[in-house]
Amino acid sequence: MTIVNKLARKELIDMVPYQSARRLFASSSATEGKVWLNANEASGSGNYQISSTSINRYPDFQPEKLISAYSQYSEVSAENLLATRGADEGIELIIRTFCTAYQDSIIICPPTYGMYAISAENHGADIIKVPLNETMSLDLAGLQAQVGKAKVVFLCSPGNPTGNLLSQQEIKTALELFAESAIVVVDEAYIEFSPEQTVASWLKTYPHLVVLRTLSKAFALAGLRCGFTLANKEVITMLSKVIAPYPISAPVADIASEALAKPGLGQMNQRVLETNTLRAHLATWLAKQSWCSEVFSSDANFILFRCQNNELKDFIFNCLVENDILIRDQSKQQNLENCLRISIGSERELSLLQQTITQSFTNNYAAKATAETLSQEN
Ligand SMILES: *Cc1c(COP(=O)(O)O)cnc(C)c1O
Repeated sequence: MTIVNKLARKELIDMVPYQSARRLFASSSATEGKVWLNANEASGSGNYQISSTSINRYPDFQPEKLISAYSQYSEVSAENLLATRGADEGIELIIRTFCTAYQDSIIICPPTYGMYAISAENHGADIIKVPLNETMSLDLAGLQAQVGKAKVVFLCSPGNPTGNLLSQQEIKTALELFAESAIVVVDEAYIEFSPEQTVASWLKTYPHLVVLRTLSKAFALAGLRCGFTLANKEVITMLSKVIAPYPISAPVADIASEALAKPGLGQMNQRVLETNTLRAHLATWLAKQSWCSEVFSSDANFILFRCQNNELKDFIFNCLVENDILIRDQSKQQNLENCLRISIGSERELSLLQQTITQSFTNNYAAKATAETLSQEN
């Protein structure tokens, strides 16, 4: 046994880290030239100014310019905001703050975002699964049965990888079920694609509500690592005890503040409109394909669809990989057999994807027909 294996926490030795889209493909040859439709990133990058004049100083714990810009954008008071290194750090902080290791549990509703379980596992919190029902809405009876058994409940709306919003009514019911016993997190990483559906204004009514936001998706800043936790002041105070002392570096604060200023918000809104249009076109195209058995409705910057069978699912995934187009296989998730997810990239990227699939099917059938002819001739 190596010294590291001897000393490390036992459960980490066999633990598999989050298989991010980057990790899955990063090392495979050059990343340039590839079409990345696997991580729900935006397709184009902005152009930002950063200043290095005070880079010799530690940044503010919570850069004021950034918090005030996000407060204005979100219509949530500054005291109810915590800027984090992506929404992922918000997830981790909530678990570390509310769950005692090897004692407390979280509830997740699969199919859902993978980091809730990874962060829980990492921290030694147990995971209770209450799967979404067939229409990808909450199983409220299933949740009710778990009241009192978990400290944190993670809801994702719009859901990843499902794409659909949870109805405000079912979120409200979940909040009421857990009013006495758990923090209810509503992960709104994709809320900019249907902003009227946010529950951020409910923070005043529900002291146990936490809303997660990010600049990684609609704001096209996944590389920046900047997210926000929106919550009751008491929750923010508690999370602030756990977070690192300087979570937001000065260049991050500069860029994020610029993205949240008026022109940045205008570009974000434009990007959302374009994405929603491209998504509708792709959904229509997918629904017409013979190999596609189901297209899930999406309120986000990606589409989940189901293939007729596993063989077709692999064929589509692999023909795209061979042509340097990367999408995400979601077929291992609960109830998502044969499902793939495509991020809404640029118009060019999506038409390349459609052409590639069409061409690969044509070639494959031509090859099969030739093989049959040859075997008949022999
Ligand atoms: C992408 C994503 C996140 C993480 O966002 P970061 O801010 O990049 O850490 C959180 N939740 C969901 C549902 C996501 O899809």
